[in-house]
Amino acid sequence: MRILRRAPLALVPALAALALAPVAPQAVADPTTPAPVTEPAPRAVTRLATDEGTGGAVTSVDPEATRIGLKVLESGGNAVDAAVATAAALGVTEPFSAGIGGGGYLMRLDGRTGKVLTIDGRESAPSRSPKRTMFLDPATGDPYPFYPDLVTSGLAVGTPGTVATWEEALERWGSRSMRTLLRPAAELARDGFEVDRTFAEQVEANADRFAQIGSTAALFLPDGQTPAVGSTFRNPGLAKTYDQIGRQGAKAFYRGRIARNIVRTVKAPPVLDGDLPVPPGHLREKDLKTYDVRVRKPLTLDYRGFEVHGMGSSSSGGSTVGQALAILERMPLSSWTDERVQHAVLEASALAFADRAAYVGDRDFVKVPDEALLDPEYADERLCAVSMAQATPKPLDAGDVRRYDGRCEPGAEREGTSVEAEDHENTETTHLVVTDRWGTVVSYTLTIEQTGGAGIVVPGRGFLLNNELTDFSLTWKRRDPNRVEPGKRPRSSMAPTIVTEKGKPLVALGSPGGSTIITTVLGLLVDFIDRGQTLEDAVAAPRATQRNTVWVDAEPAWLEAWGGDLEPFGHLLRETTLPGGEIGAATGIEFLRGKQVIAVAEPVRRGGGDARVVDRR
Ligand code: GLU
Repeated sequence: MRILRRAPLALVPALAALALAPVAPQAVADPTTPAPVTEPAPRAVTRLATDEGTGGAVTSVDPEATRIGLKVLESGGNAVDAAVATAAALGVTEPFSAGIGGGGYLMRLDGRTGKVLTIDGRESAPSRSPKRTMFLDPATGDPYPFYPDLVTSGLAVGTPGTVATWEEALERWGSRSMRTLLRPAAELARDGFEVDRTFAEQVEANADRFAQIGSTAALFLPDGQTPAVGSTFRNPGLAKTYDQIGRQGAKAFYRGRIARNIVRTVKAPPVLDGDLPVPPGHLREKDLKTYDVRVRKPLTLDYRGFEVHGMGSSSSGGSTVGQALAILERMPLSSWTDERVQHAVLEASALAFADRAAYVGDRDFVKVPDEALLDPEYADERLCAVSMAQATPKPLDAGDVRRYDGRCEPGAEREGTSVEAEDHENTETTHLVVTDRWGTVVSYTLTIEQTGGAGIVVPGRGFLLNNELTDFSLTWKRRDPNRVEPGKRPRSSMAPTIVTEKGKPLVALGSPGGSTIITTVLGLLVDFIDRGQTLEDAVAAPRATQRNTVWVDAEPAWLEAWGGDLEPFGHLLRETTLPGGEIGAATGIEFLRGKQVIAVAEPVRRGGGDARVVDRR
């Protein structure tokens, strides 16, 4: 298997300092309003970045969510049961990243058969979405400014897929009822949880737009203020919504009163006085009623003797990570110096992103050339466009998936379609991984897109609506695979991944981060498979991201560690402007011999996650 093991990386000091930086809760409406009373936390919350043992494991960004998932496993539930319970809890404690107002992608490996299947629970565009004019302001004919105008709108809300994903997963593979699995999250919402720094920071970052939507301000800005770190946050509306879905199943969400509330909110967002236009959207009850998840095989690539199972379209996660790996497999990375490997990863990633922009969209609308993208011959030909000695100026053109023979003919690379990649994807999402005593594994990424989604809480229901439709290209071009169309799913970057060796799980992982999800997952796989790092070290390691852009965006610690070595290659390096200077916040599980597993959560970024096993040994 893997040969080389490295000593754990020292904790990155710059990131650690960021995580400890105090957040000053600020008044958003009336600065003279007294701060809310800080109550004691309902239970002690500690975080564990790594845990090792047997009997199953859960890793997520949040200790309450991990605890709830672990309880399901301890009481005999399986990985799918625990994944649903964990995800529901994340909807309570991480409401700005994920929840029932959004969508996601769930991947499951069956512990008995080794078979991998995925559920595409991505949001879809309403059936009445106009194509060319979707994102134009009818008053001016000009595009809506992206942030905060378009982001905070009914227009950006796609038909949510999360509740349908849970129901599909439980019907196929669950051993517990939705009611049983949503109960702990409902209790958490009702009884409250301790506000941590990330929660407070995320409200603070959104305070201006939240303050302009009545239902959102009432929930997340009580008394006009950001909930204080250490105070208890309760969400009785969400508790009731979970109770109802628990009792009646997904139909409670997709039909009847909750569905009507969602549609009314999208059509007439509850706007207070303010400067945001908050344009209404096109969602209808029929869109909710007819929404369906897609259950499909993963996109599987053989990489250095392992099977890498990725998420197929409507996500670009599997094909873009897979294509970059297919390119990297042409090179003996494990015998190369670290800086040469870093250079190769940056170039392979840029090549894959060029093709992603040209070819990848929702496969129900676009023929996605997965086979070509993962073909070693195509990889050979794509390699002709870059050099392993020097960085090629970006952006790179896409290749030609219709005609390739693996040879470097002059001009071959110029025949492709070059589509300028628009990138509006936000970077807050959440990823969880669960395994159970039967060896079944679930790798699940879910989101509401922007931190805080559309910024619109469905009144009385306690959850934020997504703004996923901003993941479509905002200007309509005929040849763009990601142009908006009625019923279509916007192209995602979410990349839940499971790697197996002869059908047995080796590692399962994923990350938030919008389009940086792809480069984070790629980096994790290269670190783990080619560089022989432990998953724990790979998750903690500093990151950079090259998404076919002129600049390589990097974390400060990456620049410190690699900048000097990579500059001679001619890369244009700069510090990322992503929140906190952070790229990704991965979670994963490494499978050892026997039934032993190592569950890993992000140690520092976004305040760190929580990874736990059932039996610690
Ligand atoms: N909307 C993004 C996607 O589908 C995810 C957003 C995020 O990671 O924050 O890829």
